[in-house]
Amino acid sequence: MSEIIYPTTNLKVTETLTIERGDGAYVYDTEGKQYLEALAGLWCTSLGYNNRELIDTTTEQMGKLAYSHMFGGKTHQVGIDLSDKLAAMVPVENAKVFFGNSGSDANDTHIKMLRYYFNAIGKPEKFKIISRERSYHGVTVAAASLTGLPPNHTNFDLPFDALGVLRTDAPHYYRNALPGESEDQFVDRIVNNLEALILAEGADTIAAFIAEPITGASGVIVPPKGYYQKIQAVLNKHGILFWADEVITGFGRTGNDFGCTTMGIEKPAMMTLAKQLSSAYMPISASVIRGDMYEAMIEPSAKVGVFGHGYTYSGHPVAAAVALKTLEIYERDNIFGRAAELGEYMQTRLREFLDHPLVGEVRGEGMIAAVEMVADKQTGQPFEGGAVGTFAMQACQDHGMITRAVAANSLAFCPPLIVTVAQIDEMIEKLGLALNDTLDFVTK
Ligand code: PLP
Repeated sequence: MSEIIYPTTNLKVTETLTIERGDGAYVYDTEGKQYLEALAGLWCTSLGYNNRELIDTTTEQMGKLAYSHMFGGKTHQVGIDLSDKLAAMVPVENAKVFFGNSGSDANDTHIKMLRYYFNAIGKPEKFKIISRERSYHGVTVAAASLTGLPPNHTNFDLPFDALGVLRTDAPHYYRNALPGESEDQFVDRIVNNLEALILAEGADTIAAFIAEPITGASGVIVPPKGYYQKIQAVLNKHGILFWADEVITGFGRTGNDFGCTTMGIEKPAMMTLAKQLSSAYMPISASVIRGDMYEAMIEPSAKVGVFGHGYTYSGHPVAAAVALKTLEIYERDNIFGRAAELGEYMQTRLREFLDHPLVGEVRGEGMIAAVEMVADKQTGQPFEGGAVGTFAMQACQDHGMITRAVAANSLAFCPPLIVTVAQIDEMIEKLGLALNDTLDFVTK
């Protein structure tokens, strides 16, 4: 065993798979065994592995300017080019971009920008943030406080109250609807719950509502039709900003440029971007805010001083160059359009498993999906604990495919956006084998 402290829920990791190299949609372990990477690493290697253009961009930029920063009146061209490109892409009005290194730190930046902004306009009491149950927003102290996934916060006594984090319902109809409730009734109930929370807390104390357009790491939850329209109507009525955490859903993953487009979310005030921003070849993230918020923050009459925030690696030139090249490839090779087409195929093929005795729900949109295994197909009763999900994930691995168990007993699928139809077929075949193994395990 190595001396690594592994980032899992159980620090005593006894079995590990050591990956040595990657090529296209595949990775290889130290024994040379091939695995289809059906989760694109951690939902991030959109252009697959060993992409020559990204590798060349990295080395070229390293030779040109390996490091520079954005402090004390300094900046660099590749960072400027990337912010211009991003600002033109996102559905945030007159977008302004702050660079970071990870999704977690970008969400922390957003929390501080929100506080700074409301301080600047003389409303310091408006700092609370509503996040949803079963959401995932990262692991730093603040981002984990936003996260609505128990293991990520219950064991750490995180400062929810100090941060003003409020929690509202997860929009998962299959799991959270009341008996006999229609999708519309479910949406109305949880939107009413949101409004009741706002009224109880006081809209003047709430800055923003954060949501992953499609929840990723905590189960791939696709809200019912009409959910976001109703949520946004309530937020607009009460003057609360919509903050889209697009760390997974950004850049083609859902079959459009952003998850907001796929889910019909209108003009978010803030957007968090990371992962596929650079196809994960270099760590980089972006906290995007509306132009008028930025203007208010720099207004001479603003009631705050220096914006004392920034990372050594904010806008790292090598990461920025790789991100720019990634965005260029997305556009040139029509990667988002391809993801829409392939996504339809992947979703259709995955739904074939609805006939499997173990499968309760198949959900997803574009190139992100989850297959939920249940104890009782008729009632949807879940398995207790996560042993079934862990077994199924291992069975996929044994058959040469990497996936991940999420929300205990769902298997997640989020392959690189460059996969072929044949590779999706391979994914389906391997999943079929793994589900049959899991059925044997469950019925033994
Ligand atoms: N937000 C969302 C929606 C995520 O899925 C993740 C990571 O999976 C994060 C934030 C945190 O990103 P990172 O792991 O880069 O800190």
